[in-house]
Amino acid sequence: MTDSLDKIVSKNNNFQVCDRDLSLEILQRYSKADAIAIDTETMGLIPQRDRLCLVQLSDPSGYVTAIRIEKGQKEAPNLKQLLENQNIVKIFHYARFDVGQFKYNFAIETTPIFCTKVASKLARTYTGSHGLKNLVQELEGVELDKSSQSSDWGNSENLSQAQLSYAANDVRYLIPLREQLITMLQREERWELAQKCMNVIPVFVELDLMYYKDIFEH
Ligand code: MN
Repeated sequence: MTDSLDKIVSKNNNFQVCDRDLSLEILQRYSKADAIAIDTETMGLIPQRDRLCLVQLSDPSGYVTAIRIEKGQKEAPNLKQLLENQNIVKIFHYARFDVGQFKYNFAIETTPIFCTKVASKLARTYTGSHGLKNLVQELEGVELDKSSQSSDWGNSENLSQAQLSYAANDVRYLIPLREQLITMLQREERWELAQKCMNVIPVFVELDLMYYKDIFEH
């Protein structure tokens, strides 16, 4: 099983697997970017119950890293430094979930944030489909294979080639998607509103982690 990992790494110089944290070298490389795409794979949707297994990152050149998180791991200092760097926009699809993972597991306050799902909901009012697969299909013309989405990410030493390429693809398109969504938001005169929405994501994350639900509803 490990040789499937070696194969995918050696086949592609643009894909690295790290353990526990970004290496200093990769941190330095990513710190030069003005935007970084990030995604996580977990055992489920509840941070207090379901552990974080994998963190994937990509820079604008398409250099992808997957960090395997250890069971019970409480910190990732290099990742924290990158995610809290004010000069680098962190792009997620449904940031509310991943930002919550980082806050809950490693006390990371991710900022600044761009969420492609929120941007899509504000810009693409002609559709109700705001999943990553749908967005990548329409704006990038690429068919994403989501068949590994609900798989066992807990056995992180033995991730299959299909899981790793799925994990890498989940971050690969976020940077170009952001560019396209900003163009649409500007055209529809919703870019300022979008920025205000991105800025309140940490408030939603904090409420989620305290189990508050719908406190703005009647
Ligand atoms: Mn994913």
